[in-house]
Amino acid sequence: MTKPTPFKVGEAYDNFADLLDQLWGENLHHGYWDDESDDSSLEDAAIRLTDKLAGMLTIKPGARLLDIGCGVGAPAIRLATEHDIEAVGISIAQGQIERANERAAAAGLADRLNFQVADAMELPFPEESFDIVWAMESLHHMPDRWHVIRQAARLLRPGGQLAITDFMLRSTGGKTADASSVDLVRMGALKLVELDGYRAELRAAGLEPDGAEDVSDNTRPSWAKAAERFEAARDAAVHHIGEGQFETTLSRFRAFSDEPAVGYVLLTATKPA
Ligand code: SAH
Repeated sequence: MTKPTPFKVGEAYDNFADLLDQLWGENLHHGYWDDESDDSSLEDAAIRLTDKLAGMLTIKPGARLLDIGCGVGAPAIRLATEHDIEAVGISIAQGQIERANERAAAAGLADRLNFQVADAMELPFPEESFDIVWAMESLHHMPDRWHVIRQAARLLRPGGQLAITDFMLRSTGGKTADASSVDLVRMGALKLVELDGYRAELRAAGLEPDGAEDVSDNTRPSWAKAAERFEAARDAAVHHIGEGQFETTLSRFRAFSDEPAVGYVLLTATKPA
C-alpha cells in the first residue's frame, strides 16, 4: 500500500461522512485535554485544539485565511466567529464543501467564508494573497506535504503565518522514534518525520518556524474515544464498510492510542517580511 491519491481520499471522506459524523462530530480532528482529570467531551476538546492553535498566531480582524483541508468547515467557522476574519477553505471532498458552505450560510457568515473543492497539491490562488494559511490535521493525507507547504509559503503575504497540526515521529524515554509497528506507517501510507526534520522543511520553504508544541499526550485520548464510538456504532459501520474493514479500522485506532512514537504537534511559522 502506498499513499492513496487525493481523489481517493476525497471519495473516502464523502463515502464515510455519516460514520465520521458519529465518530468525530463536526470537527474532523483530535481533541485537546489538559490532563487525566479533564473529562471534556471529544467535541469540546476538539474546539479547544482549534483555539490552542489560533492562540499561537497573531490574528488581526479582517485578516484573510486559507484553510487547507477544511473538512466540513467547523474550524474556519470558529476562527471567523472568534476573530472576525475572512476565510477560504478547500477540500478534495465535494460533499464536505457543500456542507461547509451550507453551515457558513446558516451561521450568517456567507459574506466572509467561502469553501471550494480543490487539490492542495495544486492550490489555485495568487501569490501573497493570504495573511494566514491553516492546515489542521490534513497534511498527512497529501502525496507530498512539503510540496503543499512550499506552495502555502508562496501564498502568504510577507509577515503572514502558517499554522499546522500534524502527526510526527516522536522519541520517548531515550528511545529512538520508531513507529514501524503501526501498519499504515510500515506500509508507507502514513509518512512521519521528527520535529527537527519538520522544522527544517519549513525553513527550506522560506519560512521561519516560531511556535512548536508537542501535544501528543494531550491529544492521545482522542483515539480511545473514537474507538469507543466506533464500537458502539458497530452494526451500522459493518453494514457500511464490512466486517474486515471494521476490524482493521478499530485495530488502527487502538494501535495509535498505544503507540508513543506517533506524536501530534502544533506548529507555526512566519514568512519573513
Ligand atoms: N481540518 C479539518 C478536516 C481534517 S480531515 C478539521 O479539522 O475539521 C482532513 C481534510 O483534508 C479533509 O477535509 C480532506 O478532504 C482534506 N484533504 C485531504 N487530502 C487533500 C488534498 N489533496 N487536497 C485538499 N484537501 C485534502
